Amino acid sequence: MTAQLNPRGDVAVLVPAAGAGVRLGPGAPKALRPLAGEPLLVHAVRRIAAAPAVHTIVVAAPAADVESVRAMLAPVAPVTVVPGGAERQASVAAALAAVPAGPEIVLVHDAARALTPPELVESVAAAVRSGHDAVIPVLPVVDTIKEVGAGERVLGTVDRSALRAVQTPQGFRRSVLTAAHAAAGDPLTDDAGLVEKQGVPVVCVPGSEHALKITRPFDLALAEHLLAAGA
Ligand code: C5P
Repeated sequence: MTAQLNPRGDVAVLVPAAGAGVRLGPGAPKALRPLAGEPLLVHAVRRIAAAPAVHTIVVAAPAADVESVRAMLAPVAPVTVVPGGAERQASVAAALAAVPAGPEIVLVHDAARALTPPELVESVAAAVRSGHDAVIPVLPVVDTIKEVGAGERVLGTVDRSALRAVQTPQGFRRSVLTAAHAAAGDPLTDDAGLVEKQGVPVVCVPGSEHALKITRPFDLALAEHLLAAGA
């Protein structure tokens, strides 16, 4: 059954899903790789659509796969699919341009974080709604982190207590994200980075272990276990 989105919702979610996924090994674009028999993108969109505040979902798909992605997602939720770009940032910009008038909160969520719970979508959106211009979900860093130089020689130990691992969805007041993309220079790996460059304060909210980024074969195996356990 197709999930209905909320016509009175105030949130648009952009899903860049046009990456090749080289680190997962050879095969289909990463977002289209199967996880327990369904593409990562299907898992991701199903969870986004289950968040009550979501009004619109825009997916940026590999240009060659736009039609097949549309057909794949039609039974899952009403979704707009646009061709992505060569860099993640270009894919996000293409999806942002397709958001209709209405939603004033825009979340950017990687398809690769396929098991992200709807509650995280809601909590990031709620933090933007409460007055923050830019919000990122984070986890504490558990490993000791070293800075290394040439020859893998250790230069120093970084103070872990001041570090956070950043996830998606990242949430923004719509005007703030639009301005950051309009001014964007060199491609960055996340949208909060663009907003930081504009001098806009970015605040952290607690992330979720289930929002792990499925990047390497090990992550795929872990995600299958989490799904089997009810994630
Ligand atoms: O490559 P990386 O792991 O940073 O990709 C993060 C997300 O951005 C993935 O969901 C990927 O599909 C997407 N992406 C994109 N367009 C690109 C590169 C990556 O939509 N050109």
